Amino acid sequence: MTRYDVLIVGAGHGGAQAAIALRQNGFTGTVALIGEEPELPYERPPLSKEYLAGEKPWERLLIRQPAFWEERNVAMLLGQTAVAVDPVARSVSTAAGETIGYGSLIWAAGGHARRLPCSGGDLIGVHTVRNRGDVDRLLGELPDVARVVVIGGGYIGLEAAAALTKLGRHVTLVEAQDRVLERVAGEPLSRFFEAEHRAHGVDLRLGTQVDCIEGVERVTGVRLADGDVLAADMVIVGIGIVPAVAPLLAAGAQGGNGVLIDGQCRTSLPGIFAVGDCALHANRFAEGAVIRLESVQNANDQASIAAKTILGIDAEYDAVPWFWSNQYELKLQTVGISAGHDTALVRGDPETRSFSVVYLRNGRVIALDCVNSIKDYVQGRKLVVDGATPDLAALADASRPLKELASLPAS
Ligand code: FAD
Repeated sequence: MTRYDVLIVGAGHGGAQAAIALRQNGFTGTVALIGEEPELPYERPPLSKEYLAGEKPWERLLIRQPAFWEERNVAMLLGQTAVAVDPVARSVSTAAGETIGYGSLIWAAGGHARRLPCSGGDLIGVHTVRNRGDVDRLLGELPDVARVVVIGGGYIGLEAAAALTKLGRHVTLVEAQDRVLERVAGEPLSRFFEAEHRAHGVDLRLGTQVDCIEGVERVTGVRLADGDVLAADMVIVGIGIVPAVAPLLAAGAQGGNGVLIDGQCRTSLPGIFAVGDCALHANRFAEGAVIRLESVQNANDQASIAAKTILGIDAEYDAVPWFWSNQYELKLQTVGISAGHDTALVRGDPETRSFSVVYLRNGRVIALDCVNSIKDYVQGRKLVVDGATPDLAALADASRPLKELASLPAS
């Protein structure tokens, strides 16, 4: 049986960063990544942005060039799926029937795109946007596509709508909630992006449920719960992910909608760590609530903590969450977690397309969403980290730089 000192399952953002951090911190043992996809680790965010829009070639998505992994002696076991974990024997089995031993295991398997539960969800022409294969299949069909229906008004759905609109397709976006980005942002930001998409010709259907996908073999339309049918040559489903943790849970790890980790990214199973989209963790920026974060920042930062812990270096996950989204010529940057806010205060005029939304809870700043407003993003970070309690009138005054408003941390 082949054995590695550290075996990493998942060759995405978290898996790549775990290997990088191990070597950066002087780890000299053997390291391997098992990756379900055939590609070396690559950046996922461009899949719904520049790569989909044809503005960034595949080669520029790679997190590191092939030589980097060879020089650092990181084995890439690609095109292989881990299907079972034996925490006693310290081994992982793959779908191909191989058993691979480990000293420490880092589970960085992310998640798989959630499929539509209704009939027609697997017709030809119904796509998700999670990995390179998904987007290449979608792009291969695009020349014959005029009308696209996007299901889901989260970041991925909105970014796909923006990219496809740029490519000249007619896009209808269906969202079950009464506003886009309902799960992750406050109303002012939702309304701003809705107006932007409408101005670019996207037909937004809010508060609208999908009944089923219509078509024989290939999709022809989307039937809505009210009986309306939207004609479609292609459907893109952006309704979130299912964390890829089944083998770990089957092996006895605590969790549910993800696998539970502590501040050092340790699961409840000895020698097994988890990082990234699949990791349930108590986050102080969510008032200690146990959550999963789906961001590059979180995957990278947790991966570095897991690597350090394996090396016996003291480390604790306490990073401020941040995220970005590009739609049309708008760059959104967010810091903190806005869920649970009691106040959403707009700084600047959304009409100028450069403004921020500051979120507070009990007078403390908990998050910012900054649209084309890098200064607020950079300076507002400290307010979030400190849980600052600035004067609201000053906060709403866009002429006052946020760095002037940092107050003493609230007790
Ligand atoms: P991933 O990067 O998904 O890597 C997991 C890897 O594990 C995958 O390659 C998967 O195939 C593989 N795998 C799964 N199960 C197994 C198994 N059993 N055996 C072997 N391999 C397995 N974040 C941002 O911060 N900003 C953005 O703008 C942004 N845009 C995004 C756009 C898109 C289209 C998508 C899909 C995501 C975006 N994200 C963005 C989220 C970000 O990409 C993820 O949070 C990040 O990739 C998480 O890293 P990860 O290592 O946990 O998972």
